[in-house]
Amino acid sequence: MKIALIAHDGKKPEMVAFAMQNKDLFLKADLYATGTTGSHIEQAGIPVHKLLSGPKGGDAQIAAMVATDEMDLVIFFRDPLEKHPHEPDVQMLMRLCDVHNIPLATNPAAANLMLKGIAAQLKEG
Ligand code: PGA
Repeated sequence: MKIALIAHDGKKPEMVAFAMQNKDLFLKADLYATGTTGSHIEQAGIPVHKLLSGPKGGDAQIAAMVATDEMDLVIFFRDPLEKHPHEPDVQMLMRLCDVHNIPLATNPAAANLMLKGIAAQLKEG
């Protein structure tokens, strides 16, 4: 299971808390993250493949994996109260998730529901 984790700066503490809450499942998954988000998650003791920082193209790298069906789930805690220089990349990532029918959670409530669904699927085998 390949899962992408991205958090805008204002949402990084929420992402780390979310990763800690779901540590057992995340330790079994193949995690990819944008650079700075990935560093925070690693510091919480969860291994992750770190891509470029978001503004340098990390979101675009994840979008490319979505486009080639190499990603199963995208968790992207966006900060709707801030402006971002890489907004076009953010839009591209969300668009490609819809084009390829890849689940995308943009806040912890949605992400929790998705992970519950995955955990239930894993239990069923
Ligand atoms: P970052 O990128 O994890 O490198 O901060 C996230 C983003 O802003 O898209």
